[in-house]
Amino acid sequence: MFNIVIFGGPGSGKGTQSDKLISHYNLFHISTGDVLRDHIRRGTDLGNTANSYISKGKLIPDDLMVSILEQVLIDNAQAVADGVIFDGFPRTIPQAKALNEMLQKRGNKVNIVIGLEVPDEELTERLLKRGLESGRSDDNRETIAKRLEVYHSQTAPLKAFYQNQGIYAAIKGIGTIDSIFQSIQEAIDKVK
Ligand code: AMP
Repeated sequence: MFNIVIFGGPGSGKGTQSDKLISHYNLFHISTGDVLRDHIRRGTDLGNTANSYISKGKLIPDDLMVSILEQVLIDNAQAVADGVIFDGFPRTIPQAKALNEMLQKRGNKVNIVIGLEVPDEELTERLLKRGLESGRSDDNRETIAKRLEVYHSQTAPLKAFYQNQGIYAAIKGIGTIDSIFQSIQEAIDKVK
């Protein structure tokens, strides 16, 4: 089992690069943002709760988010056995600790954290552009600013957390999709 966390600010290319990783390494993809948006689309209670945070650019509380992820792992026990790309999770230190525990319980661990590093100005530009087509309630200037603030205060500390574990690979997230993917591939192939 080879587990990858793809990590970076909103708009850093996590989803785009995950798509390429899935086909290349044959891993199961879990995007917590997609899981939540699916609940919102289906109008579930969880979707309604999630939307009240997402539309304000805030994070879903850790306890709730961890239990959602645990359920996804249980529901897809067979598919996750070969390895997972965790996209958008963890976003806080408590979530990272919970992920370590969840994987440890299954005799596994996070093998590598791909950190897509992109300056804020570029992230804002990309998200505004995406907002023209995505229809996402959080791709507007006010919510983008909030998401960046939340990213720096709550998510960015994960870089040091994973550096301390010796599994953080910094990737320059600017350039063509293919050139960024090549850097990611090199980082993975070094440890795989
Ligand atoms: P994303 O699609 O990864 O950009 O996520 C969109 C939004 O979903 C985020 O801005 C959060 O409000 C929420 N979200 C997704 N993943 C998490 C997570 N791991 N913890 C808390 N909130 C999350």
